Amino acid sequence: MNKKSSNDTLSSTNQTVAKKVKTPKRPNIIMILCDDLGYADVGFNGSEDIKTPALDALAMTGTKLTSAYVPHPFCGPSRAGIMTGRYAHTIGAQFNLPPNSETIGEGIDKNETFMSKVLQESGYQTGMVGKWHLGAINKYHPNSRGFDDFYGFLGGGHNYHPEDYKTKYAAAKAKGTQTIWDYLTPLEYNGKEVVDDNQYLTDVLSNQGVRFIKEYSKNDDPFFLFMSYNAPHTPLEAKKEDIEVFSSIKDKNRRTYAAMVYAVDRGVGKMIEELKATGEYENTLIVFFSDNGGRLDKGANNFPLKEGKGSVYEGGYRVPMFFHWAGKVPSGMIYNHPVSALDLYPTLTTLANANSKIPSDKILAGKNIWDDFLLNKEVKREDYIFTMRHRNGFSDVGVRKGKWKAVKAFKQNWKLFNIEQDIGESKDVSGSYPKIIKELVSEAENWSRTHIQPKWWHNKETGEEWKSLKMPHFEKTFSID
Ligand code: CA
Repeated sequence: MNKKSSNDTLSSTNQTVAKKVKTPKRPNIIMILCDDLGYADVGFNGSEDIKTPALDALAMTGTKLTSAYVPHPFCGPSRAGIMTGRYAHTIGAQFNLPPNSETIGEGIDKNETFMSKVLQESGYQTGMVGKWHLGAINKYHPNSRGFDDFYGFLGGGHNYHPEDYKTKYAAAKAKGTQTIWDYLTPLEYNGKEVVDDNQYLTDVLSNQGVRFIKEYSKNDDPFFLFMSYNAPHTPLEAKKEDIEVFSSIKDKNRRTYAAMVYAVDRGVGKMIEELKATGEYENTLIVFFSDNGGRLDKGANNFPLKEGKGSVYEGGYRVPMFFHWAGKVPSGMIYNHPVSALDLYPTLTTLANANSKIPSDKILAGKNIWDDFLLNKEVKREDYIFTMRHRNGFSDVGVRKGKWKAVKAFKQNWKLFNIEQDIGESKDVSGSYPKIIKELVSEAENWSRTHIQPKWWHNKETGEEWKSLKMPHFEKTFSID
């Protein structure tokens, strides 16, 4: 701000106050995350049977990102990465927290400042709605990690029909069950149990998104809203009238799944209406994506990508994504260059002019992609885009740089694909490019040196197996042939 000169003082007495130079308004940011949504399960990515008109309208008047990766092929580690801006393996969060994680008292390392905390400290009004999955005890609770306003549930998922989950919860309680499964526990608002969630869960969450926009748009400060839908994650449960919309789909799982995605789309449509009604639409950046790929055994379709959730092939962690911001994000552009969801942290905090609130020793794995993104140019990065998952004595790895992708899938040898020409990973070209595959594998090995031991496992057996099989077996993982 300019210092007041003596002239200003004089002029103000004359009532000819100079117009104050307004600093440009910082954007509202809405990050909409779906859970286990398949690459091809939205209209804007080519779905022919699932209808997503609200999402398609945003994608079409915004920019669609066709080569967007989340850092992990399943929930917890992917979300840990998004919120901390780091690969989960480097902070001991490479496994899902177990159900009812309050019983082990674990959560994402408090030394890792979440994106939400940075935005909150810079003056954003911050809200989160839906699935958390990053720690259930107080110190790991959304309200302790940068969210002023939290409505949702703390575990890895939730049943959808209140008449079902409330009945089951009450029955378990009546029986004296000590630890009642996360998927049945009451929803909460800032730590307090809610009782008026009498609608289908996705609609409840969407209404809370609308409520947040209405409430916080009244103040001058911008807002950050993290809409963390658990749909279309299992259990496959949809509203009857939504299922009827898809009566032409023969497969039962697919039909229900389609109805679940449709409910999310309806909710997004309502939030857009509220943004317009409150005059916030023009000044709001919307980022939409999924936390990992869809489950092919539960109705999802990741076409043309190979495999699905849990895999280090593209279907596991390459996800549908778009950015929308009227007048700022190019309308109708398609951005084909690779980006990582780890890029969101530095990108969003920069757009929010909040970087001074990032601790100086904070490690961020991603890049601020904004300038390159707007120009539809590839982001210059020294780092490769990695993913890794561990199971049954093996570490599966995916590593991408430019057009190349190297893959070490479960119990298989390393393979190399030209991912720009062969998005379906069908033709292993490692034999023709020995130098390239060597380089990619060696970069992944360097990256693996930054990993630490897991701080928890999703169940006891996996933890015992990890120890007895002396995981992660990187010596085996990174030897070619
Ligand atoms: Ca997920």
